[in-house]
This record gives sequence, structure tokens and C-alpha cells, in this order.
Amino acid sequence: MRIIIIGAGPGGYETAVAAAKRGIEVTLINKGPLGGTCLNAGCIPTKTFIACKSLEEARARKTEVLETLRSGIASLLSDKLITLVEGTARFVSDHTVDVDGVQYSADKIIIATGSVPAFLPVEGAGNEGVLDSTAILDLDEVPQRLCIIGGGVIGLEFASIFSAFGSEVTVLEYAKNILPRFDTDLAKRLKQSLSKKGIKIENSARVTSIDKDLTVHYLKNEQEFTVQSDRVLMAVGRKSSLESLNLDAAGIAYDRRGICVDENMQTNVPGVYAIGDVNGRMMLAHVATFQGRRALNHICGQADKIRFDIVPSAVFTDPEAACVGMTEDEAKEKGLNIRCLKSFYRANGKAVASGTTDGYCKLIVDRDSDKILGCHIFGAHASDIIQEATVLLNFESTLSDFENIIHAHPSLPELLQTAAYS
Ligand code: NAD
Repeated sequence: MRIIIIGAGPGGYETAVAAAKRGIEVTLINKGPLGGTCLNAGCIPTKTFIACKSLEEARARKTEVLETLRSGIASLLSDKLITLVEGTARFVSDHTVDVDGVQYSADKIIIATGSVPAFLPVEGAGNEGVLDSTAILDLDEVPQRLCIIGGGVIGLEFASIFSAFGSEVTVLEYAKNILPRFDTDLAKRLKQSLSKKGIKIENSARVTSIDKDLTVHYLKNEQEFTVQSDRVLMAVGRKSSLESLNLDAAGIAYDRRGICVDENMQTNVPGVYAIGDVNGRMMLAHVATFQGRRALNHICGQADKIRFDIVPSAVFTDPEAACVGMTEDEAKEKGLNIRCLKSFYRANGKAVASGTTDGYCKLIVDRDSDKILGCHIFGAHASDIIQEATVLLNFESTLSDFENIIHAHPSLPELLQTAAYS
């Protein structure tokens, strides 16, 4: 069998490697550097910035880290069953794409072209000095005043990074809480913690325009306010990367969110799949990878047990925030009879010993079935600890199952056990 994969981000390249392992021949078409947004302008560069004390150090280390990881991907793709084609793929019919004048056809095509930053349609959004999350990584000077539009994941990660580098940071968020999709309690704690570090966060703030001198105008409770800044970061979401694909030539359906797919990631055209940010379902690198596994399993006629309703996610602020499963509000809206069990970093031996006492862990448990429904952690290494809760949710564990599992002492995952026993 032979398949075409378009895009070599964590969706596309991981699927190419997995397909080759199954003996499938792959033509992987990619424009730009290997690794997609995650490696080149997202997850990895931002984590490199977080680990550095100055912008200068961060930029140098970023180049080194990216080169190492890109060469890792190149060696994974050196499998003889994978042919890498550099260029932009454009559909000419439902199972044929054109790349710079050369046509490639296959029964199965997987689209994994990712997403690009969205810009607010306000006056001045295109002014010089208004940056997206890619351009801000190339700044060679720390802005004295940075205004961030959007208090979502990207906005808050950059707020944390640039505040640590010395910028005066103001975040303008449209919704009444930052991180609108996260547990409300957690979002409030994170806001308090970032505010203590000197980051100004305005909620219910609707940006209306940006002047040439980068004064940002916004409305709050019908009143107009301004923020003076030296650079503006636009972090109001991302949109699926569809433009260059010429989807209409193949009759592939898409809407405002991205390419429409079913539970197997298959589009309305049989044999054509769309995975990752381009389908707009959940814009996370690890989701792209697992959607690729689902598509590949479907192509091979194999069922799997991947649970797309149980996806851990993390925000790499300082401290971190991470969650999996239901929030307290969602559980209440569903009418579930729940209890929320909490533990605190200040009472955890490892956290106290390492001086990371800011934070807490919250488990959401169904009183009737005793099942663990969700977990929300705010504090050091939250992104690592959440993985244990993810396993528990996947195995539909009850609180009593979990109480019997011995945890190493002293360790941060003991926070979960302390919550369970609270
Ligand atoms: P987001 O959807 O997480 O946040 C965008 C924020 O902008 C929202 O809080 C929204 O209310 C706000 N907003 C929208 N219009 C606004 C306006 N007019 N004025 C002020 N605020 C406004 O999007 P993002 O932070 O840009 O991230 C894009 C995608 O990338 C998300 O799906 C995110 O999950 C993903 N991502 C994930 C990670 C991670 O997992 N660590 C990191 C980066 C990005």
C-alpha cells in the first residue's frame, strides 16, 4: 500500500514513521522546515525560552535545540519506505495532488497541514510592532512594555517568559476569566500568581484598535482604556491552514473551524483524512499525533481504544497549570453528584524542600460511582504529574482503586494521593 501525507509536523511525520513501520510506502510532502509549528515556532522554542534567563541566551539555545530535534526527525524519516518531497501540495482531483508541477496520486491521503496564527480584524492589527507567536520568538531586544492581546495558552506562556526577561507585561483578555476552557478555580489561582509577579491582566477587555505608536485601545464595561506599549503580541487563537490546498478541486468539505472529519479522521471524500490543527478539533501537538494513529488504524482496518475525550493539556507558565477530564463547572452542568478533593504544594515534602510551595491539585470524583472524572493541577511540574491522572481516567479508575497505589516519597505525584485521602 502507498499513502500520501501532506505536512511534516507532529501529526504528519509521526504518522509517516508509524506507517513505514507497518510496511506502508509513504510520500511525505512538506514545505518549510521539518517538525511543523510545534518544533519550529511553538511548543519547543517556547520551552527553550522558559529554561533560559535572558533573551540572548534563549535565542542561541533555541537554534541549538531546534537543529538537534530537526536532525532527529530527519533520521526517523530516512526509512527507505518514506520519500520526502519538498514543496506545497495542491489538490487537482480527489486522490491526486500537484507539487510544483509534479503530480502524485494515492488511494489514501492524509492532510496534516496544521494552523497559522489568527489576527483580530481591528484597525492597526497590521501595524509594525504587532507580532504573532512566531515573530515574537525572533525579537532581538526585550521590549520594555509588552501588551498581549488574548489571555489563552499562548498569551500567558509569553506573558510569563517576557515578564521573567524584564518586560512590563499587560494581558488583555476578552472573556471574564483567563484560559476560558480551563477549570475556573485554576484560572483564578493562575491569575493571582501571575499578578504577584507584576503581570497586569485585564479581563472582559475588548480590543478596538491599535495606534501606529502601539497604544492599544480597549473597552471594558463600556468605558475606553488604553495601554501604551513597545510591542504587541496577538494571541487570539489559531486558524486551520487550508488556503494552499485547493480543497474544492477534490470536493473536500470544510467549515470555519477547518476540514470536517468523522471519528476516524476521514473527510467526506473516502480515503482522504485530515489530522491535527487543520481539522480544528483540538489544536494540540499530541492530539495531532494520536489522530494520525487513528487514521492509520482505520486505513489498515484495525480498531483502537484511543480516547479522544481524555486529553491532558498543560500551560507552561511559571508555575505550570495542567488538566485532564472534566472541570468542576462541566460536571455540575451535567448534573453529576461530585466532590472536589484538594491537596496543596505547601504540604508536600518534595515541594517544600525544593522551594516550590505555590500551587494545588484538585481531583473531581463522582460520588455515585466513585470514578475519578477530572484532575486540575496548578504548580511546579503540573505538566508531568497530570500524566498519572490521565492513566487513571483511561482505566476508569475509582478513588478506592487509586488509594491502593503506593507512591514514592518524597515526590510531587504524592499530591494526587494526598488529595485522594483528603
Ligand atoms: P486560545 O484559544 O487558547 O486563547 C485565545 C484567547 O484570546 C482566548 O482566551 C480568547 O478569549 C481571547 N480573545 C479572543 N478574542 C479576543 C479579543 N478580541 N480581545 C481579547 N482577547 C480575545 O488560543 P491561543 O492561546 O492563541 O492558542 C492557539 C491554540 O494553540 C490553542 O488551541 C492552544 O490550545 C494551542 N496551544 C497549546 C499550547 C499548550 O498546550 N501548551 C501552547 C500554545 C498553543
